[in-house]
Amino acid sequence: MRPDALLFDDAFRVAPYWWEAAPPETARAPLPASVDLAIVGSGYCGLSAAAEAARHGASAAVLDAAELGAGGSTRSGGMVSSGQKLALTNAIRGVSAERLVRLMHESMASFDYLKRLVADESLDADLRITGRFFGAYTPGHFEQLRRQGELLRDKTGVTVHTITRDAQRAIIASDYYYGGILVDEYGGLHTAKYHRSLRELARRRGATLHSHAAVERIERVAINSSPATRFRLHTARGVLDAKHVLVATNGYTGNLLPFFARRVLPVASYQIATEPLPPGLMDVLNPGRRMISDSKRNLFYTRPSPDGTRMIFGSRPAIREVDERAAARLLHSKMVQLWPALRDVRITHAWKGYVAMTGDKLAHIGEHDGIHYALGCNGNGVALMSYLGQRIARHMLGVERDAGAFGEGAFPVSAAGVASHVAVPLGAALYGLDDLWRGRVRAALS
Ligand SMILES: Cc1cc2nc3c(=O)[nH]c(=O)nc-3n(C[C@H](O)[C@H](O)[C@H](O)COP(=O)(O)OP(=O)(O)OC[C@H]3O[C@@H](n4cnc5c(N)ncnc54)[C@H](O)[C@@H]3O)c2cc1C
Repeated sequence: MRPDALLFDDAFRVAPYWWEAAPPETARAPLPASVDLAIVGSGYCGLSAAAEAARHGASAAVLDAAELGAGGSTRSGGMVSSGQKLALTNAIRGVSAERLVRLMHESMASFDYLKRLVADESLDADLRITGRFFGAYTPGHFEQLRRQGELLRDKTGVTVHTITRDAQRAIIASDYYYGGILVDEYGGLHTAKYHRSLRELARRRGATLHSHAAVERIERVAINSSPATRFRLHTARGVLDAKHVLVATNGYTGNLLPFFARRVLPVASYQIATEPLPPGLMDVLNPGRRMISDSKRNLFYTRPSPDGTRMIFGSRPAIREVDERAAARLLHSKMVQLWPALRDVRITHAWKGYVAMTGDKLAHIGEHDGIHYALGCNGNGVALMSYLGQRIARHMLGVERDAGAFGEGAFPVSAAGVASHVAVPLGAALYGLDDLWRGRVRAALS
């Protein structure tokens, strides 16, 4: 085992690399007494909903239990997807072919929405569309990826290149994969700068943002003698009345409302950032500065920092949750499997965040008992949760009647969510066994 001094940089921190440029924000301004729209959660979803609501003249207040932006949004890999996940993960069961196509189209729309928002509002987000390579872990996975790539191209019109193993070194300087596919409509951004820009946009349009205001209870209150009701939110910093409530808590959904707790399973995901690489090494390892992931159950996902100096690498390090330092050790060794040239590169940051998994592996927007929600990114939410936040806000305010493909169908109870203490380690163990078995297949082939 490598000694800590060789593995961890002297300035090592348990915190997202992204926070160096744009840390989460404390915002302790008093809560307004009453708003049109109260939003629980200050991630991309909540902020996008607030910005959209304010654009339509509604008063909106965003409430977060922690600092603004301390949730999943600024802890992610910042990979911006155009909906490939729906086609490439075999995720969707029990969804009609017709709805699947609409879901893919809407995911594409989320990609376009994010690009347009960044351009139109001149958001400082370091967004670059460089494409994403999906590496095949086994020869069988290569065939599967090739077929899924064709489906994706046919259904959405994105540009998919099939990359054989012989050609893959032009994309990634590694022999780890058996080829793969490259999708051009994919990119990366700086998660925390994008979040800061969304905060600025929401405020510029008139919304108010409040940190350290955990919503502890939501009750319905009568308006004078009228049959109509409003919502009263009891928070750690006082009470706020609202005409509408949006729950945008994703992987940080607690027990505020049992309906959501039973449908959303928070799963930890971990990442590391390296020290700046020696000059020229990134140009060798990842010359196109692309987003990279693979076909394993417990996949690797990696990308360069937006300035191209560091490698950012993520995976699930172990079956159970571990502390970030232990996770960093395991992730470093996985990164070296992919890129042996990074053996002596030290880690500067390690962090984890929670993604929200759902029973049907789809995000959902809608209404339950008068309370609106946009939840369940399933690990794919930079563009999608931004888009769904503005979409549900439009729906809530009556600007748009149709809630779209993510607003259709029931939001199923997640069996894993109900029994998460058993199901997450069990699921991870089964996934691990699957990867292990396929690893044996690889070993036999090499
Ligand atoms: C490690 C990691 C890597 C990821 N990588 C990618 C990627 O590369 N690409 C991609 O597309 N997606 C990725 N994701 C997923 C993506 O980050 C999320 O889907 C998205 O940011 C979720 O945004 P959100 O606004 O819905 O929720 P969040 O940003 O998680 O915000 C939820 C907020 O709700 C608050 N909250 C919870 N309960 C309460 C309460 N009772 N009162 C007040 N506030 C409350 C929390 O404090 C939190 O700030 C990743 C996620 C993680 C964790």
